[in-house]
This record gives sequence, C-alpha cells and structure tokens, in this order.
Amino acid sequence: MTTTLEQTKRDEPLSERYERIKDRAAEAAIRSGRRPEDVIVVAVTKHAEPDQIRELIRLGHIDFGENRVQQLLQRAAMIDEWLGRHQAMPSARIPAGETLFSERPRGGEPAGSMPDRVRWHMIGHLQRNKVRKVLEVSRLIHSVDSLRLAEEIQQFVVKRDVEADVLVQVNVAGEEQKYGCAVPAAMHLAEQLDTMINVRVRGLMAIAPFTEDPEQTRPIFARARELFEEIRDSGLGEGAFNILSMGMSGDFEVAIEEGANIVRVGSSIFGEREPGDEGAEG
Ligand SMILES: *Cc1c(COP(=O)(O)O)cnc(C)c1O
Repeated sequence: MTTTLEQTKRDEPLSERYERIKDRAAEAAIRSGRRPEDVIVVAVTKHAEPDQIRELIRLGHIDFGENRVQQLLQRAAMIDEWLGRHQAMPSARIPAGETLFSERPRGGEPAGSMPDRVRWHMIGHLQRNKVRKVLEVSRLIHSVDSLRLAEEIQQFVVKRDVEADVLVQVNVAGEEQKYGCAVPAAMHLAEQLDTMINVRVRGLMAIAPFTEDPEQTRPIFARARELFEEIRDSGLGEGAFNILSMGMSGDFEVAIEEGANIVRVGSSIFGEREPGDEGAEG
C-alpha cells in the first residue's frame, strides 16, 4: 500500500495536529487585524474517537461540535460523565452564550490546563422534533434556517425558562440541496428570531462549496461577511449579534481572513475519516 500524505498526517500525534491548527488560526487572525483569542476553533468530533476527544480536553480545549443529534447526545453524556470522574465538583454546563468571546470560562488556571466543562455546538441540520434534546446539551445552534425551526426552539425555551443562542445558517453560494436559508431571507429570519423571548440570535453560519483551492471560497466568505455586517448594523441583537461561523479544514484560514470568528475544524485535527465511515446528517 502506498502511503499518502493524508495517511502520514494521520500518524502525526493529535497534540501536534491540534497545535498546528491553532497556530494557523492564530496567524490568520493576526493577518486580519485581530487577536488570536478573537477566533474560536470548534473541534468537530463527527469522525473522532472518544479517546481523541478526551485528549483534546486534557490539552485545554473547550469547544466541540457535532452535526448529528444522536452522536451529539451520546458524546456530551460520555464527556460529562468522564469530566465528573476527574474532578471533585460535579460538572455543571457552561451557560449559553455569555462566555463566548469572553475569556476562558473559568478563572486562574494557566491556558492549556484541563477545563472542568466543555461547550457543545450543534452544527448540523436539525429537525424540529429533535430541538428539545439538542437544547439539553448544546449551547449554540449554528444551523437555524427556517422560521418553523426557530418557533420550535422558542416554544421549548419559554416552557423551560432557559435561553438559547442561535445562528442563522445561510446558503450563501446558493447551492441546491444544501441546508441554509437563502441570502435574501436571512435578514428577515434574523429579525424574527430577535423578537423571540429567550432566543438570542448571535450571528450567521455559512458553509462554502468544497473546492481543492481554498482561494476560490474567498468571495463566498466575503459575501457572508457583508450580509453579517448588514444585519448587525441594522441594530438587532442588542450587540450580541457578533458571531460569524464559517471555515472548515480546507478553508478555515481564508474564512478567518474574511472575518470568521468561529471556525469548525474536524478532519485536520482528528484525521481523515476511515474508508466506509459515511456519516449521515440529521
Ligand atoms: C463536518 C463538518 C465540519 C468540519 O469539516 P472538516 O472538513 O472535517 O473540517 C464543519 N462544519 C460542518 C457543518 C460539518 O458538518
């Protein structure tokens, strides 16, 4: 069997891959006139082994993303249980939103030490009948793309008297068969979310079409950023409309250069998926 570049990368220790991604994200942040801590790398665990997730937490990582509900629930439960065994105090989940873009959600410990809590991000397509379960574990839903879904979220948070932070997913490239609301509909959906009690609309999420050359995604990300600024400057969200989630393994540096402050990186951290491991969305 020939050894491909990807296989070689897979053999590289996780800690080194992780540090390299963090360095690349930090450099892109600086290139775009921001500080490294202004950009959050969400580690997307859909093809990660449980051991890899635990290792990343030991390295001090806090933000994790899943695109499938069932796996999100399983992994959040597994990690909660594991964190609970590794600390004197039982793990309490980080409250929604508040701590995104503030300093680390705890005080005192040196960067890189093990957090006592993690944040789960729901990044995949969400069906209305799964909203309740997702909101039990996730702090930020990146994938709200319809009013009906938004209303389902609202119903649940009002009943429970909890808050939910959401992003509007926009299909900026206008790709067929992709989730996300159309560009002209995004402002209206954001405005409707903004009127909902206990729902905080925090920003936009976009996915660029896959290309071999990340430069080709630049206009897509630039368009997403324009739309983000347009909505933000319309004054909704009371200053909390401040998250632009875009960029994945293949294009996260370009996304940061174009203004992303959350990137969602899976395979570049955890390795390529195993052949035949085809995760369905939903
Ligand atoms: C899988 C996934 C990612 C991460 O993709 P990689 O190419 O593995 O980095 C990011 N965002 C969403 C919505 C995903 O489903």
